[in-house]
Amino acid sequence: MKVRFAPSPTGWLHVGNARIALANWLEARKRGGTFVLRLDDTDVARSKPEFAQGIEEDLRWLRLDWDESFRQTERLSRYEAAAEILKKKGLLYPCLETEEELAFKREQRRKQGRAPIYDRGALKMTAEQLARAIENGKSPHWRFKLNTRTVTWRDGVLGERSVKLPSLSDPVLVRADGSFLYTFTSVVDDLETGITHVIRGEDHVTNTGIQIDILEGLSGRPNRIYFAHMPLLTDAEGGALSKRLGSVSLRQFRRDGIEPAALTGYLAALGTSRDPVAASPRELAADWDITRVSHSPARFDTKQLLALNRKHLHALGFEQVKDRLPEGADEEFWLAIRGNLDLLAEARDWYEVARGDITVPEQPEEADLLKAALESLPPEGWDATTWPGWTAAIGQATGRKGKALFLPLRRALTGEEHGPDLKTFLPLIGRARAATRLQRSLG
Ligand code: GLU
Repeated sequence: MKVRFAPSPTGWLHVGNARIALANWLEARKRGGTFVLRLDDTDVARSKPEFAQGIEEDLRWLRLDWDESFRQTERLSRYEAAAEILKKKGLLYPCLETEEELAFKREQRRKQGRAPIYDRGALKMTAEQLARAIENGKSPHWRFKLNTRTVTWRDGVLGERSVKLPSLSDPVLVRADGSFLYTFTSVVDDLETGITHVIRGEDHVTNTGIQIDILEGLSGRPNRIYFAHMPLLTDAEGGALSKRLGSVSLRQFRRDGIEPAALTGYLAALGTSRDPVAASPRELAADWDITRVSHSPARFDTKQLLALNRKHLHALGFEQVKDRLPEGADEEFWLAIRGNLDLLAEARDWYEVARGDITVPEQPEEADLLKAALESLPPEGWDATTWPGWTAAIGQATGRKGKALFLPLRRALTGEEHGPDLKTFLPLIGRARAATRLQRSLG
């Protein structure tokens, strides 16, 4: 088995792309296959090296490694050779219509109540007419002559599928400037690099009908590739995700500090009846089964992803995060704060609260409480028993309890309204800093 993930380097990867990449990777790893990264960069005007590099970075961040990779622009001579084969078979024919002419023809057909597809007018052009036009400085674009049949295949996700080729326009495969279109280059690559399974988004279903026909034209073997199309993702409300792609780019999630395992675990369960569990691709491979993916669109809900991220963080051991914690942070610190994090990046703020010099709110109205706290400040050697003992003494002295006792103390000691359990967090702040903060909070 050999699969490929084939992004176009014309933008950053988003969660929809990540889901396709993950599905391909999991299929390959589960079945001992090869995973190829192919960059579809034949659209030179829109492809950018920084996007190509960004795609590789994002895939690495997700822990999706590839066995082979190439760019389509490295293979232009192969596309030329393949185009020659189709020309010889009469399956790729030259056309000279301008955009305006084509638009006019479409409009005419519409008025006549016919489907606005290409009328194959160019097939009537003689060799002399073509030669004259070329002499006059025109250059043809090339269309693929679609078969008159209905193409059917058994889709790995969607089940029985078919595309009626006669209801489609013959696709342009080569532009007038000689550049190739994705519809064509993808088939040439899939064929020549021995791709066995194409797993991609449902938006490519019509392309699959056309590409199976091109496959037949090139190799005589239309059914040599197995296709599976993943239904598209919508946002949490069921709307098109494409409207907010920036907010669901992998880059943005990485910047926001989402754990890659939360994202891969979430994406692998999306559209299935399974509950998502944060897990690396490697951990997900054994249980992966593409046939579990439902036929209907799946909702990508950032809130659910965040909840999964939180759950994952709360269970992570110190060894798994220590490299990403602030310098000096130890296991005691991690265990004290992990239950309080939405994102790992917040550990930095809590480290400041534990060990730094922070601003605390002035609470002159709580003077009795703060003074009592200072007066009963326990001696050095703070541990998990310090907080309960100390607050019991303050409660005794002031007659306060519950929120009236704990909240002003929390504000004074951490500068925050909410946060980690002070039983384990207070020893990290330590006696000297606690004393200074209480004093400052007095005003
Ligand atoms: N470059 C195409 C895309 O990003 C690839 C589709 C395919 O997998 O064939 O949509």
